[in-house]
Amino acid sequence: MNQFSIAIHGGAGTILRSSMTESLQQQYEQALHAALDAGANLLKQGGSSLDAVMAAVVSLEDCPLFNAGKGSVFNHQGQHEMDASIMCGKLLDAGAVSCVSQIKNPVELARVILDKSEHVMLFGAGAEKFANQQGIAFAQDDYFYSEQRFKQWQEALAEDRISLDHHDRKFGTVGAVALDNQGNLAAATSTGGMTNKKFGRVGDSPIIGAGTYANNATCAVSCTGHGELFIRSVVGHDISCLMEYKGLSLSEACDVLVHDKLIKIGGEGGLVAVDKHGNIAMPFNSEGMYRGCVDAKGIRVVKIYAD
Ligand code: ASP
Repeated sequence: MNQFSIAIHGGAGTILRSSMTESLQQQYEQALHAALDAGANLLKQGGSSLDAVMAAVVSLEDCPLFNAGKGSVFNHQGQHEMDASIMCGKLLDAGAVSCVSQIKNPVELARVILDKSEHVMLFGAGAEKFANQQGIAFAQDDYFYSEQRFKQWQEALAEDRISLDHHDRKFGTVGAVALDNQGNLAAATSTGGMTNKKFGRVGDSPIIGAGTYANNATCAVSCTGHGELFIRSVVGHDISCLMEYKGLSLSEACDVLVHDKLIKIGGEGGLVAVDKHGNIAMPFNSEGMYRGCVDAKGIRVVKIYAD
């Protein structure tokens, strides 16, 4: 049997039971199961962790419940500007894209940047031009429009505030980490960022070493939360360093970041991570985090709240 592990998230934040209906909770859980299956089915057939994290993230990007791809929030100018990244732990190959509009699945663009460009990150119009050359699917603005997102943006505009997706309680950045049968680790993250964010704002999700990191020697990490604080804490790479240089286990290293270092600077959020042995960690310091994991031993978890 193929050995594998995969974990995903759909954002962390103030997810209150009181604002959740049974039917909405079911929709979230179904979407998380579908994304886990998209990745795990590839891994079961001996597919690569890189393909698995991409498949899981594409599934979440296509679901309007999450703040990535189709469900992306509005920026201050009323546009959808999306960030995404993907990394393979074997040779530390990475691809990232920032501030792109009208790209249906930004993680697919990050992947072609990894596979087919000599660069790690492309931004805005240059990234969109490359997407066009590579045959990446575009979608018109109305594909990304939803009444609820528009309302959130109007409220944020009226109050002159920038809100993290998790401030909105029900939406989140998406990400996945996986270990495949060849022992390769991979991570991917995709987001619409923050409601009413400044035009050109870049969060942690496309920053290799912050929101996304993978290294076969240690672990793969995908983060969600207050991006500025996750950039300043270099979360993904710091977890890897704690394991590599200090000998911490995956869960010990994740706890140092999520429950100590981030807390000390006011960084709310969480992450999913997997190590080279297939161990999984899904810690968060917020009210909840949409998350799930599957492994070859038969573990299958989908959860929203702490318990
Ligand atoms: N980390 C994302 C950002 O700051 C937001 C999130 O995780 O929901 O863009």
